[in-house]
Amino acid sequence: MRTLNNQLDLIQSSPTLDLNDKARKLREAGADVINLGVGEPLNNFPENALVFAQKKLETRQVKYGPTGGNQNLKLAIQEYTQTHYGRIPGVMNITVTVGAKQALYNLLNALLNPGEEVILFTPYWVSYPEMVKLARGIPVFVPTNDKFIPEMSFILAAATPNTKAIILNSPNNPTGAVYPPELVAALVDFCESRKIFLIMDDIYHQLLFEPAQWVPGYVFTSKPIDKSHLVIINGISKTYGMTGFRIGWTIGPEPVIRAMEKIQSHSTSGASVLLQEAALGAMQDGEQTLQELQAFIKTNRDILIAGLKKIKGLQITEPGGTFYCFPNFKSIFPDSQALAALLLEKAYVATVPGIAFGQEGYLRLSYTCSTEQIAESADRIRWATDPEAPKEIIIGGKQIVRDWER
Ligand code: PMP
Repeated sequence: MRTLNNQLDLIQSSPTLDLNDKARKLREAGADVINLGVGEPLNNFPENALVFAQKKLETRQVKYGPTGGNQNLKLAIQEYTQTHYGRIPGVMNITVTVGAKQALYNLLNALLNPGEEVILFTPYWVSYPEMVKLARGIPVFVPTNDKFIPEMSFILAAATPNTKAIILNSPNNPTGAVYPPELVAALVDFCESRKIFLIMDDIYHQLLFEPAQWVPGYVFTSKPIDKSHLVIINGISKTYGMTGFRIGWTIGPEPVIRAMEKIQSHSTSGASVLLQEAALGAMQDGEQTLQELQAFIKTNRDILIAGLKKIKGLQITEPGGTFYCFPNFKSIFPDSQALAALLLEKAYVATVPGIAFGQEGYLRLSYTCSTEQIAESADRIRWATDPEAPKEIIIGGKQIVRDWER
């Protein structure tokens, strides 16, 4: 057979999906698995999403729509941006995609020439480096401090004339860190003056815990959107727990938006017109769902953190947002893949090893499952990793004895 695209040799498949697979097989075999590996809230979506989608279906007219999105959804995004960002983008500054993931994919392909660099902060969301490479760019990694915040001096040192973009994700996956306004201000300033695109992945911006404060990048630039180098990514996946609807969007200067739509017109032709209607319904009437989700993950966060704090040697930075935390197991189990495997096989807790996000010695724990499961997962992790924890535990009605040393 002829060889395939050799660019793919540089790309890893999603490590989170591999783990989900293993967890699913264990569950099918009857194990009482708690899944802290998933990246999605398990709540019901807003009722209005159903009403809007149903109405659209009843018209019996579900045909091709505009490549860049339905006009009514764009108007809702315009309003959303006014409410949350204090800016009113033109309709020409908005494009709708199959999730925020496709927004980032289209955007990087629209921005990058081969060999151009994109600065990413470690730990990063798993798809960023792979998407940059797929777009023939070069990911440049800048470490963050012990609170998972990047420092401006490191960013300045990493920037070269070849730097085309910086991706900023706050609140952050996998750490839950929320970047301080001064840092966002400095980054906006730097990117505007150096003509570097600042890609702000705001997908978690409504999942915030007090006193953390999320500040939109637009606050720090007086440039009109068409003259600015800020590009905003957002969507409904996390805000309303609507991951399977696959609706996301981008706001940016018109030439960037048109270039993204050129790519989209030859790939997906656009997001499903039906699911865009559902997104519109959710955006018009999703406030209660969001508030319930916020309260639920806050409870889970507090219970998980309190449970994890009992583990000797574990370092934990309280997440300011998202539904993830990223505890540091370095002094207990430095190999995150071995630790994730141990937790899954012995304690039936699925997690994601930090190495998947470019940071060894950590685990990403997602706290979207039931509050009872969250409390139990912390006990199980403690049992598996802390020699001072009782040796016996009951999992799925069976008593198990810890028979290994760390
Ligand atoms: N950005 C980040 C940081 C994410 O965590 C995710 C989803 N895991 C996405 C983008 C993609 O979201 P969507 O479901 O809208 O494609």
